[in-house]
Amino acid sequence: MSNSINSDALYNCVGCGLCSKICPENAIQFITNAEGFINARINDEKCINCGLCKKVCPKFYESNSDYDINKAEAYYGNSLDLEVMHKATSGGIVHEIAKLSISNGVKVIGVAYDYEENIAKHIIVNKEEDLFKIIGSKYLQSKVHDVLPQINHKDKYLFIGTPCQCYALRKYIKLKNIEDNFILIDFFCHGHSSQITWDKYIKESGFVDIEEVEFRSKVKGWHNFVIHIKDKNKNYYGDSNSDNFLKLFLANSNILKGCYTCNFRYNEIYADIRVADFWGRKFWNNQDGVSMILSLSKKGSTVLTELHKNASISKIDYEEIYTAKQGKLKGIKQIPIYRDQVIEQLQSDKTLKEIAEFVNKKTRTTRFVDEVSKRIISFQERGK
Ligand SMILES: Cc1cc2nc3c(=O)[nH]c(=O)nc-3n(C[C@H](O)[C@H](O)[C@H](O)COP(=O)(O)OP(=O)(O)OC[C@H]3O[C@@H](n4cnc5c(N)ncnc54)[C@H](O)[C@@H]3O)c2cc1C
Ligand code: SF4
Ligand code: SF4
Ligand code: SF4
Repeated sequence: MSNSINSDALYNCVGCGLCSKICPENAIQFITNAEGFINARINDEKCINCGLCKKVCPKFYESNSDYDINKAEAYYGNSLDLEVMHKATSGGIVHEIAKLSISNGVKVIGVAYDYEENIAKHIIVNKEEDLFKIIGSKYLQSKVHDVLPQINHKDKYLFIGTPCQCYALRKYIKLKNIEDNFILIDFFCHGHSSQITWDKYIKESGFVDIEEVEFRSKVKGWHNFVIHIKDKNKNYYGDSNSDNFLKLFLANSNILKGCYTCNFRYNEIYADIRVADFWGRKFWNNQDGVSMILSLSKKGSTVLTELHKNASISKIDYEEIYTAKQGKLKGIKQIPIYRDQVIEQLQSDKTLKEIAEFVNKKTRTTRFVDEVSKRIISFQERGK
């Protein structure tokens, strides 16, 4: 029997990269597959079947009640720095934690937009002035495997990444007995768009020499999804009603297959701190952004108490998290039945506008069918 991450798991690979970090034989490489997602590939000739890769791989996850979200302490907060609030996606809390970490000699690993390759990738930041490179959410899968070899077992690190990346890193640092050197931050995770969508979008929109990308600009306030791209000729702003990249992403139509069955996006948290947008009625009129913050460990709570000079943080009842997330803390998402068709169209010559129209029609039909089914069920229940 194979002890390595076998082909079934690779089908659902989330590209977290930790299998290659732990592999003693350097037997794992990465490719970007035809759907535009990063996948691990094992070289069978090098593999000695030691099973280490399986121990960190999110696809071999086994539920562990130590990491249950219900054990978290809940807070909300925001940075007190206007520039940070302007650039951050929610309340800028991640930036403030990163700033504090750097002042304590901790290296920060977060996601930057690479303007040469038009991809998202993890980088290591050692200087406060470089932290703006990693501020803000990038709705693309980050290339993390390139940065992992640079992480050593001596230095202290703050790692910011998706819940699946944090799961794999938690497993790794536990196995290597270096947990004390790390603080992990993740977020409630929608999943990320495929790179082929983004490449098509950049090409069709005719951007030249892109200088700035903000996947969630606050130009129309925090509650509105607006993408901002500055290239050498123009400043483009598109919102969720007009922008085809946002339309496909928000409809969940082009995200990684493994994201739909993901166990970490809501209910189990392997990071010390989880952040999110604090949606819901409480901050309905706030246009600047508020972060929801969950602390899962002593280390997480200590960091939050040290933030008071640069951020406003308030403790709240855990129940408020449920209210704000409007019952979304359920875990598994349904795969839209048209998801594979969308990917096929993205691989074809169809334009993003045509694909977005296709998704729009399909979501309208799905909503209609859901509504009719609900009415039939309620009619049948009344008749009982
Ligand atoms: C792909 C993605 C999906 C998300 N889905 C949701 C959601 O469904 N609901 C919700 O409430 N919040 C979601 N978030 C989190 C939210 O957008 C904010 O990032 C979070 O609230 C923190 O905001 P902030 O202002 O404190 O920090 P920000 O400055 O916005 O911090 C974002 C941090 O995330 C890291 N990051 C950025 N892009 C990526 C990426 N592609 N992969 C890994 N790490 C990245 C950066 O290093 C940065 O430090 C998502 C974020 C991402 C990246
Ligand atoms: S089983 Fe061991 S040698 Fe083979 S790929 Fe996994 S970690 Fe590498
Ligand atoms: S450890 Fe991560 S990168 Fe490796 S196979 Fe599993 S999900 Fe993919
Ligand atoms: S939804 Fe899950 S699998 Fe997908 S990026 Fe987020 S944490 Fe990873």
